[in-house]
Amino acid sequence: MGTELFNTTTPRPAPSGDEAAFSPVQQLDRIRHLHETLAQNFPDVVIGTLNKQMQFERIGAKRVSMTEITDLGPESANSIGYNIPHLEGDTLPILRRAFHGESVVYEATGAGRYYNIKAIPLKEPDGAINEVLCVFQDITEQKKMQEGLIAALDREKELGELKSRFVTMASHEFRTPLTAILASTFLLESYSGDDYSKEKIVHTSRIKRSVNNLTNILNEFLSLEKLEANKVSVVHSDINVPEYFQDDLIGEMDLIKKAGQIIDYHHKGKAIVHLDHHLLWSILTNLMSNALKYSKVNSVIRVNSDLNDDRLLVTVADTGIGIPADEHKDIFGRFFRARNATNIEGTGLGLHITQKYVGLLGGTITFESKLDEGTTFTVTLPYGKRSVTVDSPLTETFK
Ligand code: ADP
Repeated sequence: MGTELFNTTTPRPAPSGDEAAFSPVQQLDRIRHLHETLAQNFPDVVIGTLNKQMQFERIGAKRVSMTEITDLGPESANSIGYNIPHLEGDTLPILRRAFHGESVVYEATGAGRYYNIKAIPLKEPDGAINEVLCVFQDITEQKKMQEGLIAALDREKELGELKSRFVTMASHEFRTPLTAILASTFLLESYSGDDYSKEKIVHTSRIKRSVNNLTNILNEFLSLEKLEANKVSVVHSDINVPEYFQDDLIGEMDLIKKAGQIIDYHHKGKAIVHLDHHLLWSILTNLMSNALKYSKVNSVIRVNSDLNDDRLLVTVADTGIGIPADEHKDIFGRFFRARNATNIEGTGLGLHITQKYVGLLGGTITFESKLDEGTTFTVTLPYGKRSVTVDSPLTETFK
């Protein structure tokens, strides 16, 4: 009878001589046994018959409605004769086609799960089709695995594209600092004695700046790769904001500053914030180095921090080249560089990473800019949103 169930496009045969030899009670027992075996051995499959009123009767010890198809297990409820609920899409009209003699194979979704549905007409000896054999197989796990694989493949593809873009960009961006390093090294070699002490300083600081530039490019790429792979950890600790700016950040900018550039820093409010040191560092150094890079010699960069119980607010304002108005919308895009910046070294990755980091900290970043007048970036980071004590730092990996 098992194979007969799946091969019913031809009229069901009359009981064979052997079957006829069983008493009706024995035949019922055999059928019940078959049903129990089916129910126990194919837990993700529901087999049943569908009548013309679209009522489903499950084969097995219990009868279930299609509502229970969502938990396809053998423990489904005992309800009888339920109408098939509307699985998403055109399930009912498609299943009805089986009453016209068509064997239907269909994939449907319902209640967030996926089903493979097979409907096979059960022809009576006179050719009439009053019932359809339906096999509902829950393929949600398969589908999820498939979707996971496709997503992983897409991610891999995107990472591949990212890497090749980086190689293109790096081969261009590496050239300038490497040439500068080489030229300064040759010149340093040719200077001997104290007469050239001034020149030596100029060239060693040029070398340092160029190496710093190269390191930044590599760091940006590594940060981006980590972000793309959702592998950025957020570890909060106490940071004394005014000290952090004065002692660490502003000093770090010395290598980037052009002649006569000044960073004018002011702090307002509380001192201690609880934030991720690495992310905050990356956000602020990026904004400050951009402000310096896109401004002229002797310019002043105004940096303000303001900390209250709710948030840390930082503004970085310059009087530099500004961003063309029609390019404001693209400025956080990966590898994006405004047209007035193409002659200035850069990767177009910094702001993209900065925006992602601000997002990881639950904050916002905005800017105002006028071409040839200057740009002001404002970062707001919620204070204490993921508050933890310094003794037991919390490590969160964003997956
Ligand atoms: P990069 O500076 O390496 O090009 P970013 O991602 O940091 O990359 O910045 C993206 C673009 O945004 C820059 O190329 C530049 O066109 C513009 N930009 C960013 N900051 C400023 C600024 N302070 N002044 C003018 N333009 C800026």
